[in-house]
Amino acid sequence: AKSDGKARSQIFHAQMDIDYHYRQRLKADLREALRHGQLTLAFQPLVDIGTRRIVSCEALTRWNHPELGLVAPSTFIPLAEEMGLISEITEWVVSTATSQCSQWPGVVSVAVNISARDFRGMDLEAVIGRSLARSGLDPARLEIEVTETAVIEEHEIAKRLLTALAAKGIAIALDDFGTGYSSLSYLHALPFTKLKIDRSFVADIASNEKSKRLLTNVARLGRDLDLIVVAEGVETEAQLNVVLEQTQVQQVQGYFFSRPLPARDIAELIGRLNAP
Ligand code: C2E
Ligand code: CA
Ligand code: CA
Ligand code: CA
Repeated sequence: AKSDGKARSQIFHAQMDIDYHYRQRLKADLREALRHGQLTLAFQPLVDIGTRRIVSCEALTRWNHPELGLVAPSTFIPLAEEMGLISEITEWVVSTATSQCSQWPGVVSVAVNISARDFRGMDLEAVIGRSLARSGLDPARLEIEVTETAVIEEHEIAKRLLTALAAKGIAIALDDFGTGYSSLSYLHALPFTKLKIDRSFVADIASNEKSKRLLTNVARLGRDLDLIVVAEGVETEAQLNVVLEQTQVQQVQGYFFSRPLPARDIAELIGRLNAP
């Protein structure tokens, strides 16, 4: 048993070395990747439950590394934060997403993810202002997604910035709701317009009565605060049916309707699903 433990620990350390070297390699290549167009955006629709139309699409960054293949954003976004590169990525995301959105058929919004670091690392208000001006996009069609952790870590600066953006008509979504801090006091202190309930609340709803009730109550909380409530991670029809029958959720996002799609495909999907 003792030697088993040793073997396991050697395997464990070998894995840590691989992870370490993999991350070092990614860090070395990420700056170039951004400059040389290896980053792209995928867009995932948010569907209004009442009309079954796409009301918004979330921009999700993809990195196709020429030698290592697709790298997950959950891997490279934290590296970009460590390297101080996240603000440049955010600037590129805002610019690309607004420009794409302005070409979609009809009136569909676009949502971009903002990192906690962006509150300090850049003049986000100016960056957004320039992108809106260049794309000609109505500010009401831009949504900013921030997490609980980000707004709590940077409370004062987040409040100032989000209030300024909201005053321009930009929508502010609280992302991954329920996974961060349990204090709810910031919910009404900040100008949120939308609450995105994390997919961990949705995963079991078709098979577990308590999960269903939990989602129902979280959604009610959002509605009571006059927020648009979104359920993330809806993968199956069974989950969708629970959302439809049990909750006050207004929009759903998840693989059941669509995976994140390349720019060309999302424009086509919007054209098809939102056709009159
Ligand atoms: P997020 O903001 O919560 O984005 C939603 C994530 O859930 C996406 O993963 C999406 O592909 C995934 N997802 C959507 N529907 C389903 C579903 O039905 N089932 C499951 N299992 N997953 C679903 P993705 O694209 O891998 O992104 C992961 C995270 O990386 C994002 O979570 C966000 O926190 C971060 N991220 C991605 N792009 C950016 C970016 O441009 N900037 C920043 N700051 N963060 C980003
Ligand atoms: Ca998000
Ligand atoms: Ca989310
Ligand atoms: Ca997430």
